[in-house]
Amino acid sequence: MKCVVCKTGQTRPGKTTITLERGNLTLVFKGVRAEVCENCGEAYVSVERSRELLASAEAAAQAGVEVEVREFVTAQVQ
Ligand SMILES: [Zn+2]
Repeated sequence: MKCVVCKTGQTRPGKTTITLERGNLTLVFKGVRAEVCENCGEAYVSVERSRELLASAEAAAQAGVEVEVREFVTAQVQ
């Protein structure tokens, strides 16, 4: 799809790093599959994946985690 940020680049499948902050919690997910703009680098994460990330953050917050860096792994095969 066309990037809505720079309006010139096209997005391609790639990976990105997502940082979520919620209260005292800072959670960093590395290797999140996303559509990444080849021009400006803006990453677009699907709604389903965003939900997974938020659910993980919610669980971590309830477990009392404050700072964590995770490699994001899904069951999906390439
Ligand atoms: Zn762009």
